[in-house]
Amino acid sequence: MVTGLRVFAPAKINLTLNVTGQRDDGYHLLDSLVVFADVGDVVHLRAADAWSLQVDGPEAASVPAGDDNLVLRVARLFAPGAALTLTKELPVASGIGGGSADAAAVWRGLGVMTGQGRDGVDLLALGADIPVCVSSQAARMQGVGDVITPVGGLPDLHVVLANPRVAVSTPHIFRTLAHKDNAPMPAILPTFTDAADLCAWLATQRNDLQAAAESIAPQIALTRQAMAALPGCMLARMSGSGATCFGVFKSATAATQAAQRLAHAQPGWWVRAGRLGSMQDAARPQAL
Ligand code: ATP
Repeated sequence: MVTGLRVFAPAKINLTLNVTGQRDDGYHLLDSLVVFADVGDVVHLRAADAWSLQVDGPEAASVPAGDDNLVLRVARLFAPGAALTLTKELPVASGIGGGSADAAAVWRGLGVMTGQGRDGVDLLALGADIPVCVSSQAARMQGVGDVITPVGGLPDLHVVLANPRVAVSTPHIFRTLAHKDNAPMPAILPTFTDAADLCAWLATQRNDLQAAAESIAPQIALTRQAMAALPGCMLARMSGSGATCFGVFKSATAATQAAQRLAHAQPGWWVRAGRLGSMQDAARPQAL
């Protein structure tokens, strides 16, 4: 029996995000190409009789440590208990799905630890990004986050992630949107020969939340522009509802150098170099 696990919770990045409609219940319909980063939070689980959660790491102060934490809300779907430690690396409420990634990591970990399946549990009700984070595999996400189609063969991208430390409210951004009935991505996505090819196609696509987010928080536009101005940046865009932006670079070295430069110029920002793609191997629970 497994008594201890380490589970990596990769950040989710929306390479594209089209807002294609709104349901009568208010939920927005999306069409988004989602990938995962080798940057993320880490959850440790140890078998115990009761539930407990300890949060540490550089971003620990901004997350609820009690029952409101998504980690505990998902854990309580299982029985009997576990001692959980969440090491929080990802900025909170920043468009890279930190809470959803953590919740999905606990879901994977407790599934292995307890052997309990949870078919029929509505993870979507806990967070729109949780289902796509469960596999941490590159995917096209449609509907309200419930229609997930894995996208195979996507070239990995070397990126810089940057967050200017400005909080943006997702509902506020959706309310500010000028158009909620934008065109979706092409029904069939092209196949890409390499990262430059993918990047050239991404440049023809968009994040429909970006303009609204930048009108509310001009620091996001500054972040994107600072990213685009870095040597070797091929594309700069906001992820999710922001404020985190990603910049694509031609190599790991170029991304690392760009991240160092940006972090030096903006010491108050959260800046990381990393790789984007499918992270299902890295996200698999590891026995301690
Ligand atoms: P998305 O990209 O899915 O919109 P996000 O990155 O914008 O997500 P999160 O970091 O998931 O947002 O945080 C959203 C809210 O969830 C915050 O208000 C936070 O207080 C709450 N929350 C609960 N549990 C967690 C957790 N484990 N990590 C981060 N936030 C959490």
